Amino acid sequence: MLNLVLFGPPGAGKGTQSEKLIRKYNLVHLSTGDLLRSQIAAGTELGLRAKQLMDNGLLVPDEVVIGMIESKLQENQSAPGFIFDGFPRTVNQAIALDQLLDQHQTRITVMVALVVDSEELTRRLLLRGQTSGRPDDQNEELIRRRVQEYNDKTAPVADYYNQQQKYVAIDGIGSIEDIFQTICQKIEESVVR
Ligand code: AMP
Repeated sequence: MLNLVLFGPPGAGKGTQSEKLIRKYNLVHLSTGDLLRSQIAAGTELGLRAKQLMDNGLLVPDEVVIGMIESKLQENQSAPGFIFDGFPRTVNQAIALDQLLDQHQTRITVMVALVVDSEELTRRLLLRGQTSGRPDDQNEELIRRRVQEYNDKTAPVADYYNQQQKYVAIDGIGSIEDIFQTICQKIEESVVR
């Protein structure tokens, strides 16, 4: 099984690269951001609570996203592998993910981190906000808060995977295709390791 964590701040290109990786490796895409947005669209109670936090650039509680990932793993037991996009975002989530995968007799193969500086992130997110319809992409102050949440709570997740020798950093500035080729190369190196 190939289980990939695609890591990086908002606007680093995780969604774009995920789409290409899913096609190439036939993976099931698990994006907690997308799962939360579908809860919001469906008007569920969970969605309503998450929306308040998301609209303020804050993370939703660990148990909410861990629960969503747990049920997706259950639903997709015969998948050839998973790509985790926007998850785990805290060390607690990373620990929970290891436990869940262990229950399914599998583990994370590699975490690929896309590295992009915060000025470029702001530029990309504001541009995306013109077409994505996402309220959290349309306000510079909110974008800054999301990047701050990333630096405070999510960046330490990289150390967690580094300790397991599963962390690979890639320059997230460049052509989509070049970045994709580098990611594939790193995945293939990790699979044979
Ligand atoms: P994303 O689509 O990954 O940029 O996520 C959009 C928003 O959803 C984030 O700013 C958070 O408010 C929330 N979110 C998504 N994934 C997580 C997660 N793993 N943990 C906590 N909050 C999350």
